[in-house]
Amino acid sequence: MALFQISEPGQTPAPHERRYAVGIDLGTTNSLVACVRSGVAETLPDEHGRHLLPSVVRYRTDGAPVVGHDAIAVAHEDPLNTIASVKRLMGRGVEDVRRLGQSLPYEFSPGDSAMPRIRTVAGDQSPVAVSAEILKTLKTRATQSLGMEIGDAVITVPAYFDDAQRQATKDAARLAGLNVLRLLSEPTAAAVAYGLDKNPRGVYAIYDLGGGTFDISLLRLNRGVFEVMATAGDSALGGDDMDHAIAEWIMREAGIQDDAGHRQMRRLLRDARAAKEVLTGAEKTTLRVQRDNHEVWEGVLTRTHLNALIDPLIDRTLPPCKRVLRDAGIRANEVDGVVLVGGATRIPRVREKVSQFFGREPLADIDPDKVVAIGAALQADVLIGNKRDEEMLLLDVIPLSLGLEIMGGMVEKIIPRNTTIPVAKAQDFTTFKDGQTALLVHVLQGERELVTDCRSLARFELRGIPPMTAGAARIRVGFQIDADGLLSVSARELTTGVESSVVVKPSYGLTDNEIEHMLRDSIAHAREDEEARKLREQQVDADRLIEAVESALAADGSLLDVKERTEIDRSIEGLKAARGGNDAARIKQAIKTLDGATLAFAARRMDANIRRALTGHKLEEFGAPGGKPTS
Ligand code: ADP
Ligand code: MG
Repeated sequence: MALFQISEPGQTPAPHERRYAVGIDLGTTNSLVACVRSGVAETLPDEHGRHLLPSVVRYRTDGAPVVGHDAIAVAHEDPLNTIASVKRLMGRGVEDVRRLGQSLPYEFSPGDSAMPRIRTVAGDQSPVAVSAEILKTLKTRATQSLGMEIGDAVITVPAYFDDAQRQATKDAARLAGLNVLRLLSEPTAAAVAYGLDKNPRGVYAIYDLGGGTFDISLLRLNRGVFEVMATAGDSALGGDDMDHAIAEWIMREAGIQDDAGHRQMRRLLRDARAAKEVLTGAEKTTLRVQRDNHEVWEGVLTRTHLNALIDPLIDRTLPPCKRVLRDAGIRANEVDGVVLVGGATRIPRVREKVSQFFGREPLADIDPDKVVAIGAALQADVLIGNKRDEEMLLLDVIPLSLGLEIMGGMVEKIIPRNTTIPVAKAQDFTTFKDGQTALLVHVLQGERELVTDCRSLARFELRGIPPMTAGAARIRVGFQIDADGLLSVSARELTTGVESSVVVKPSYGLTDNEIEHMLRDSIAHAREDEEARKLREQQVDADRLIEAVESALAADGSLLDVKERTEIDRSIEGLKAARGGNDAARIKQAIKTLDGATLAFAARRMDANIRRALTGHKLEEFGAPGGKPTS
């Protein structure tokens, strides 16, 4: 018997059962969840109609942690158990956190774990666990709004997030009971929200000024493929810094001392933030601040004055904008569109400066603090299969080059930075020594030429290579980065098929400043590195030759007369001396000399080897054509 599909009048029955998947913007300051319903992507509010969930988690002795507005409301009473900005700690190691140390209000537990743990009344918490609480809250919100259990999600991450940070984000999602359909970069999500992916081609700049971070990304759209061309930013610049500038102004005006207590400072910052937000829509606002002696100070802040206070901060966003253009090799007027993202881009002065820099009006129709979540929801809807006809191919890039250590402490780049992912690349290597049966594969990240200047991501060994002469083995090393930006590396000896691999999960990630630093270093040291590389190459060649000649002398030294032997010995000594110095040209010359000195020796060895191989055999055994018996 056939079943009829029943639907409400006016609603078309779905051709296949409709499934929901959500998009989540897991932000440093605020997080949001969005979903496509009836073809429209929208952020989902909580029961009080609020869309933004402050990314703040407060742990308590009894009961579940409190997340969001309620956590913020009591933050000043319980600062040590109220955790904000946990995104900065994702995928970071204990060492990284120690460096961030002073700027963080809460305490860390000493421990031997590679992951930092925040001490709270409800036990030690990892950043992954704290993020999971935020995600759980959003998952519950979505389940209530949509009236069904929601498990699938696209979660956004900054474009520069490295492997460890992406992995940590995925772990948090799993902990929250979410299945991650895809990690999507925030700028790409913003571009998708504006439907820029529908254009045939173009270059777009995504300017994202949030609470505590600034990111600028250049995206290139080409034949339906989105690619992040370059990213830059400042991980310590955002709306919070403006709040500080305003709070300092209030302190000066109201005569509040610099050593204002913690509570007073929190109140001041809250007032400053409110004033800043009011001035986005108004020309002036009145501030009333209670001093410790219970007197009330009252003052007026105008938009013009606000602009003067925040101009230096906005100006700091411009050098990174220049840098991405330079990295991508384009001029500002070649950008086809600018998208504003992040709550702080609502500020009129920010818009003004951005328009000025790029020479065009930025796109800002979609609420800049919701745009990332909306793009993520659109992508989730495609990935869950609700829009089969409209497959979107979204690509990201890797922020730093990936490579391998080769002889001489050098790095051979396998995947250059800004390569779009997913990507797979392989390169063949060989053994350096006769009879070598194992190879150490050392995976590195960075732009510099020498291993010591790059960051070590992983090491593993390929064993069981059959003993062969140096240079005979063929070892193919493959790098694979999946769509979420996670790296795996494999090595395979091609004649035997022995194989070894590793999924790269570094115990901690790089800070954005470190990434910046490494990039700047690589530019500053380019010439120096080239010199160093030339020298290392000659040194490696020298070692290889000395090793080969010495082992030949040990085996077949008897083939030489005294004069020949003396000349070779002298050339070896000469090369060894040159090898010890740092003159690449001199080493090269000494290699040539030794090469020449051993020419006759090499020919004689070959003859001797052939003769040895033939000893004890009759020539006809070898089936030489027309061979005559020798006896
Ligand atoms: P994040 O991406 O870091 O989570 P958001 O994009 O939510 O942060 O931006 C938060 C910042 O935006 C805060 O500094 C907040 O004060 C600021 N902001 C939000 N709304 C406004 C507004 N109307 N005017 C000025 N600043 C605003
Ligand atoms: Mg954001």
